[in-house]
Amino acid sequence: MMNRTLAQADPQIARIMAGELERQKDTLMLIPSENYASRAVMAAMGSVFTNKYAEGYPYRRYYNGCEYYDQLEQLAIDRACELFHADHTNVQLHTGSQANMAAYYAMLEPGDRILAMSVAQGGHLTHGDPINFSGQFYEGHFYGLDPETDRLNYDMILQDAKEVRPKLIIAGGSAYPRIIDFQKFREIADEVGAYLMADIAHICGLVAAEAHPDPVPYCEVVTSTTHKTLRGPRGAMILCRADWADRIDRAVFPGIQAGPLMQIIAAKALCFKEAQEFGFREYQRQIIRNSQALGQALLEEGFTLVTGGSDNHLLLVDLRNKDVTGREAADLLEAAGMVVNKNLIPGDPLPSTEASGIRPGTPGLTSRGMKENEMKMVGQWMARAIHEGREAADVLDEIRQQVVELCAAFPIYEDL
Ligand SMILES: *Cc1c(COP(=O)(O)O)cnc(C)c1O
Repeated sequence: MMNRTLAQADPQIARIMAGELERQKDTLMLIPSENYASRAVMAAMGSVFTNKYAEGYPYRRYYNGCEYYDQLEQLAIDRACELFHADHTNVQLHTGSQANMAAYYAMLEPGDRILAMSVAQGGHLTHGDPINFSGQFYEGHFYGLDPETDRLNYDMILQDAKEVRPKLIIAGGSAYPRIIDFQKFREIADEVGAYLMADIAHICGLVAAEAHPDPVPYCEVVTSTTHKTLRGPRGAMILCRADWADRIDRAVFPGIQAGPLMQIIAAKALCFKEAQEFGFREYQRQIIRNSQALGQALLEEGFTLVTGGSDNHLLLVDLRNKDVTGREAADLLEAAGMVVNKNLIPGDPLPSTEASGIRPGTPGLTSRGMKENEMKMVGQWMARAIHEGREAADVLDEIRQQVVELCAAFPIYEDL
């Protein structure tokens, strides 16, 4: 049993996996929180580092036999601190949601007030939403976007902060297409005596490449996933100031987790190295150029973009002038080989299961090597699928075929 390949051990899963690989090869990944991890990152995830318990931290473990695990985790920590110029990093977090849970556990008492961006305006569930633990254990309050510009308005956030008097202010979200000014957030936090946390799950790769302003100098704590723009394994981390290191580490283990996923930590260490190698900065800058080119193509096809464009890796498309909901548009696009997700737009009249917008992003296509010219084509295909696809299924088939050809010209995982 120990030496069979996956195909020998479980042909059923192998078949499903082969189908998924084909799907990834032949469709355009336009979901901004997704990316293609490198072969090396996937190899680290599927390694012998899955076999052992290593509760505790490097050189302070509760299990024997951790010699190589200590070296590995210390390497991951050192690389993360170097990449993000952070005093300390905890690399054990299994997911972004758990990173936020651990950060709150370290910083707050039950019932304390959080001030964050609402989900309806682009925030994340774990930022105090009533249907999430964060809104039940803590008191969630929300700042919105400026209704005139759909952008963060720091004067309005300061007003909200003065009213709410939060213990913690969170900067960052999942559907905001513009630059976030962390220094302004710091000034607001200082004015009301709050801690400041940035959640850079989405923009982590941009931050690592200095293609987006850096939150680390301004925050007590910064949480992030590692699998979105950073292009590492599914997982998360917390960067923090030296004076928070012990509290954060204790909140993670033994606070909310037990054994770390060391195979994922191996892959994190590797992705931190990849992020310092030649080409990564250029990759992140190309993500932004591609996002802007895709936005331009959509504008030329008569689409409305929330805030009129993008400074980062994602666009928020307001479909209200198109007589189609976000869900319908996303389904039409999927039938044409372009996978995007529906998303609420600021002030959305529809529920989140339907939504009036879609949220395309360019990290995945940029990983395939696509540039502005391809974005222009993709924007035109998206428009055609949404404009004509409901009446003409053959149009969707025709675009689907063009998508397959484009994917073949920009392959992923060539020998898989
Ligand atoms: C994706 C995301 C998370 C959660 O990450 P998971 O790994 O899915 O739990 C947290 N915060 C923000 C802003 C995100 O975009």
